[in-house]
Amino acid sequence: MAQFNHILELFGRFSLDAQTSPDIVACDLLASKIHGATIHPTDVRYNASTTENWSQTAWESPTCIFQPNTVQELQTAVPILVDSNASFAIRSGGHMPVPHAASIDAGVLIDMSSIGGTQYDVEKNVVVIGAGQKWGDVYPELDQYEVTVAGGRVLSPGVGGLILGCGISYLSDLYGLVCDNVLNYEVVLADGSLVNANKESNADLYWALKGGSNNFGIVTAFTLQAYPIFHIWGGTKVYPFEALSDVLDALAEFQTDPNKDPYAQFNINAYVTNTTFGIVIGLTYLKPEEAPAAFAPFFRLDENWNTILDTTGLRTIHNLISEYPIPSIPRVEWTTTSFQPTQSLYKSIREIFATSPAVDELRGLTAGTGIFTLQGISASAVEAGKLHGGNALGLEPVAQTWFHTDIGWWFPEDDEIAHNGIRSLTDEVEALAKAQGKYLRYIFMNDASIDQQVIEHYGEDNVRKLREVQQKYDPGAVFQRLVPGGFKLPHLS
Ligand SMILES: Cc1cc2nc3c(=O)[nH]c(=O)nc-3n(C[C@H](O)[C@H](O)[C@H](O)COP(=O)(O)OP(=O)(O)OC[C@H]3O[C@@H](n4cnc5c(N)ncnc54)[C@H](O)[C@@H]3O)c2cc1C
Repeated sequence: MAQFNHILELFGRFSLDAQTSPDIVACDLLASKIHGATIHPTDVRYNASTTENWSQTAWESPTCIFQPNTVQELQTAVPILVDSNASFAIRSGGHMPVPHAASIDAGVLIDMSSIGGTQYDVEKNVVVIGAGQKWGDVYPELDQYEVTVAGGRVLSPGVGGLILGCGISYLSDLYGLVCDNVLNYEVVLADGSLVNANKESNADLYWALKGGSNNFGIVTAFTLQAYPIFHIWGGTKVYPFEALSDVLDALAEFQTDPNKDPYAQFNINAYVTNTTFGIVIGLTYLKPEEAPAAFAPFFRLDENWNTILDTTGLRTIHNLISEYPIPSIPRVEWTTTSFQPTQSLYKSIREIFATSPAVDELRGLTAGTGIFTLQGISASAVEAGKLHGGNALGLEPVAQTWFHTDIGWWFPEDDEIAHNGIRSLTDEVEALAKAQGKYLRYIFMNDASIDQQVIEHYGEDNVRKLREVQQKYDPGAVFQRLVPGGFKLPHLS
């Protein structure tokens, strides 16, 4: 009997907790006030949705998922979450592998995937894109007009997260980062109001959203500038891993050319733990010009090395983007650091690939794949961003490399080894860059790991301005208190 009473007591306590738990209250209210948009764990759609995040490291078990079909439904939902004091996460394409950034345990996951639509306005030459679209929805719509936008270099990531992290595109050296090409953000604020943020209206919020991620509101649509870029030259060249020193020499020459052609973009993936892949060089030239002279340093590699694969040629930009190789591995973590490229720094980094104990440790993971990605941003990209009104990132107008280490592995029991390995590799590269006086403070949000303080690195003045914008548009600090995941505004000292 005593045991029975104890069970009753426990049950009573549980049901009291359940009734008062803000996330459960919010889920019930969302389900009763907005028809058909709330997915509970008992719903057959729940598992498919919670496992939608690209990396398993980001899978969680929300109390419910709210999937608005219209912006009005979202406007109704946000005040319900605020009044219930329920924690929530916002997910567009779910491609950020950072735990808690785009999902949540014991809270509500707002899944933006039904807020779609890509509309090209021929007269204004702009494209309005719903935040729930993926880049693979956007480019095919633009093909018929032979235009493109500064957007993802891969089709699968979401539009929402990539733009709010200020994304790199193939058009960056010409027109700035992806966020620099946004003409208008349509945003639901904490009180449920819908505002536009652009150069004329809510200009401070417009600036803050260029790097501000999920700290100010939920963006429902982006208006992007379109460009008449369609037929281009480019593709992938794969070399054996042994060619790495020569590849890095070619890269330093290409990046440090004072007259670097902004139509020419590269990205290099060096597979350090799986040498069968070797080095994958992506070359993109934004005009239909065979073998453009800007890539001469890379073409000279062919005098000493045979390519394992070469897909370069004339094609459309959409076709090139469709080709980007993405290994399919269940668990992924990545980190990033930035520096000014020099031949000597690249040589030192080459030594890390060859000698770091962390590489050996990562090699021991089941099906572990480690990729170093070198991404170039020229001074012209930073200048173009300024011409478009500026962003919150605090970038220096110099040629820079956004260095990205990406580890993929299979089993959760290896999470810690992967995390420590990748952390120490990035620390080693960062220490070298500092020692050679080439370190840059910037941390690229879209490639950062959970323990990197991204917004802190935008610089004190920018952080203060971001805080002021937050206090103006979200005085209750809803997106700080109730949205715990992702890269948050630091507290002012
Ligand atoms: C295969 C692959 C290719 C990639 N290629 C590129 C590339 O070419 N260029 C580049 O810059 N990056 C690239 N990335 C990185 C990518 O930009 C980030 O992972 C980005 O966060 C993905 O966007 P998402 O909408 O899928 O993000 P999500 O995981 O859905 O969200 C990321 C963050 O943004 C917030 N957020 C998302 N939508 C909204 C919204 N509507 N309102 C407010 N906050 C929101 C979320 O809360 C979360 O914190 C790539 C990633 C992958 C996995």
